Amino acid sequence: MYALEVRNLHKRYGEHVAVDDVSFTVEEGEIFGIIGPNGAGKTTTVESIAGLRTPDSGSISVLGLDPIKDRAEVRERLGVQLQESSCPDAIKVAEALELYSSFYSNPADWRELMQLLSLTEKRDTQYKALSGGQKQRLSIALALVGNPKIAILDELTTGLDPQARRDTWNLIERVHDTGVTILLVTHFMDEAERLSDRIAVIDGGRVAAVDTPEGLIARSSAVQQVRFRVSQPLDKSVLTELPEVSNVEITEGRWLVTGRGQLLSSVAGALARAQVVAEDLRVDQRNLDDAFVAFTGRAPEAPSERRVG
Ligand code: ATP
Repeated sequence: MYALEVRNLHKRYGEHVAVDDVSFTVEEGEIFGIIGPNGAGKTTTVESIAGLRTPDSGSISVLGLDPIKDRAEVRERLGVQLQESSCPDAIKVAEALELYSSFYSNPADWRELMQLLSLTEKRDTQYKALSGGQKQRLSIALALVGNPKIAILDELTTGLDPQARRDTWNLIERVHDTGVTILLVTHFMDEAERLSDRIAVIDGGRVAAVDTPEGLIARSSAVQQVRFRVSQPLDKSVLTELPEVSNVEITEGRWLVTGRGQLLSSVAGALARAQVVAEDLRVDQRNLDDAFVAFTGRAPEAPSERRVG
């Protein structure tokens, strides 16, 4: 059984189709990322999984349960950290955790969670006095306090500084190590690449691709380039005759080799056979940003302004 199974999900708001046809499955224990442009339908998809929106058609299974029909059971197994979750201003950290844990039949130990999320020092601080990073950590703790099998994290690190983002990533890895399946919606390609076992690219309400981060990058960037200087004269044909190489340009002593497949190892092997050392070697390193552009036709962008309601 899959942890999550989404089949042919469709949801419109009035005339506007937000989710056209989304299908994917998430294995137990996976960190599954969802990326895509603003308005692609990511939040509508995950909120439908959480039972917070009712799809017009399609099916969703959360550990074999239906988020709408089996709402109570799903609530016990699924923790949700949503984009705009916030607490009453005056509630203190420990109070919020204790209160939320009372909503569940088999809650996690909220004191342990407070520790795990480095919030113990802030246990008596009111919500309104927490920093952005502390609020974010509290919202993650509240998503986990029901001891869920699956956690949905929507824009986990939006608004955090670089150090707080890295701390949050480490934390998610620790939570994951405890066996929680994670569905992660993010605008940050580095975050998706670092954390996800697999990623769905959603564009225009449809799944444009699902693969491992490496798989998405490889599929989107067939063409590669290697640049270097040579330690001694070399005949261009040594490289042009390689099957992986499509072009070789030499400008002011700098070689630029373009090709596909195992380009780097093939070029390195040919240079070694010719007893030439490649100096100042650079390989155009493709990343998930390139894959995003390839699959959506757009560059990754900042999160959009949040809607109210
Ligand atoms: P973002 O990255 O900007 O958060 P998203 O991929 O999460 O976007 P959704 O929030 O699912 O996208 O929205 C998909 C589309 O549906 C958008 O065009 C959005 O404006 C619209 N939409 C979302 N919620 C509502 C709503 N409650 N009423 C009307 N339209 C909505």
